[in-house]
Amino acid sequence: MLENLEQLDKKYVINTYARNYTEFVKGKNAVLIDSNGVDYIDFTSGIGVVSVGHGNKTLSDAIALSASNLIHTSNLYVIKPQAKLAKELHKLSGFDMQSFFANSGAEANEGAIKIARKYGEVDGEIKRYKIITLEKSFHGRTISALKATGQESMHNYFGPFPDGFSYAPTLDDIKNMIDNHTIAVMIELVQGEGGVESLDKIKVQALAKLLKEKNILLIIDEVQTGVYRTGKFLASNLYEIEPDIITLAKGLGGGVPIGVVMTKHKSVLGLGDHGSTFGGNFLSSSAALSVLDILNKEYNSGSLEVRISYFTKKLDAFFTNHRNFFIQNVGFGLMRGLRVKDADTLNKIVQIAHKKRVLVLKAGRNTLRFLPPLTITTKEIDDGFARLEDAINSI
Ligand code: PLP
Repeated sequence: MLENLEQLDKKYVINTYARNYTEFVKGKNAVLIDSNGVDYIDFTSGIGVVSVGHGNKTLSDAIALSASNLIHTSNLYVIKPQAKLAKELHKLSGFDMQSFFANSGAEANEGAIKIARKYGEVDGEIKRYKIITLEKSFHGRTISALKATGQESMHNYFGPFPDGFSYAPTLDDIKNMIDNHTIAVMIELVQGEGGVESLDKIKVQALAKLLKEKNILLIIDEVQTGVYRTGKFLASNLYEIEPDIITLAKGLGGGVPIGVVMTKHKSVLGLGDHGSTFGGNFLSSSAALSVLDILNKEYNSGSLEVRISYFTKKLDAFFTNHRNFFIQNVGFGLMRGLRVKDADTLNKIVQIAHKKRVLVLKAGRNTLRFLPPLTITTKEIDDGFARLEDAINSI
């Protein structure tokens, strides 16, 4: 007997995801079509990845052109789109930084940790190696990025880990945890997986100042917040801080895997200190250049702002109309959340929303998370909220 897709997946793919077995076969901007021809509004963009929407013609043309020309030559030879992308990131960030290209958020964060560790080895008399992160943080699934992740329940089974990571309950606690061996503080300005939790701008600025005085590096993990997700190119721009190291991934490639670690400490890593087979190859760099070109136009023309305002208006109305379900309305730009009164209700909302053909995400224990494509249209926003309204009214 022929196996169906669900059986095939369950038999041959390691079961690490709580997967839904709707099979999507096609997409157009914020609309996904399943194998039965049913349409869904996508308020998730593949967890903040498909920043320019599904089936984007400009992006797919750029990918096709690169694929038919050169996909990969290795980092042993210069890669023009990679150099152009590094220049573009330098310009858009507003920071005098160089980039190293990887393939994912976790890998970008590994690069950040390595830069910090080497800086701590060569700068000063004693070796500084300790990195402070926040308790509700999420920095990825590789061993060091997982250890940097402050949600300790995720650490079960995988030790021993590299030394030197500790977790501050809040931003205020960081300064008391600093000692002579501290080399860096690594934070997300809006914690994504932790529950769309934005840090206080004034406190972040004070922390940045303190760290500068102490010659401790500030690493901002912008894997989820970066590339216009919060309305500015970087959340660091929104918070008006100048980090030492920034990491990006998710939205940068529009779905093509790419990660970046950027730093102003350009001479810390030298020949042979770090590397990647795939990182920043022709295909991923060309895709990222195309994504940036599309999003720069959106930003500069004011379209992004219009989309954000419209989405905000609808989200605020939805929040206000359903205060029996929601206790708080959080986030910036198109990285938004509604805190639900309890985890069970959140699970119900996500499931019923799916049945009503609108895709939404969970974050933390009780946050309904929205990460729509940055190119979402008014009609898609209207349809999505109409379906959500329908979902919530049937609970
Ligand atoms: N950092 C942050 C802030 C993230 O949100 C994520 C993924 O959700 C990661 C790192 C890990 O990224 P990746 O899954 O690409 O390794």
